[in-house]
Amino acid sequence: MIKYTLVCDKGHDFESWFADSAAFDKQAKRKLVTCPHCGSAKVEKAIMAPRLATSKKGARPIEAPSEAPAATPAPAAAAPVPSTPAPVAMLSPQEREFRTKLKELRDHLTKNAENVGGKFPEQARKMHYGEIEHRSIYGEATPEDAKALAEEGIEFHPLPVLPEDRN
Ligand SMILES: [Zn+2]
Repeated sequence: MIKYTLVCDKGHDFESWFADSAAFDKQAKRKLVTCPHCGSAKVEKAIMAPRLATSKKGARPIEAPSEAPAATPAPAAAAPVPSTPAPVAMLSPQEREFRTKLKELRDHLTKNAENVGGKFPEQARKMHYGEIEHRSIYGEATPEDAKALAEEGIEFHPLPVLPEDRN
């Protein structure tokens, strides 16, 4: 059995059960499916908005606290001031998708790169000057460090930070 939300040509919506989707098609074609409000046989399946799984309990993957990914501040970015309210946003479905992609990217980076923590500027510099071998690393850099690295022509990127990680 399958439950469909249906809508008639006058805009009434109602729910009805069918054996399967083919059964609905057959009955609708024969005008056997009628609106309980106005009796119209011109009914079709209502477009349902996909339900987002945000309210699902325990759906969030558990992250080990010791692996809390640190963001590398961009040279131009100001240091966050603790007393400043955190930026908030209402996300459209497209933005949610984008954010999911960002999370994937960040998860990929943090899985495939070594967390060097506060040693990031030192490690990045050593790599840049050929003292140690190039590898993927991530870690923390103060705005001063980031500025200095940028001035030395050392290329690095801020890790995408997701609002839900700020806790
Ligand atoms: Zn109707």
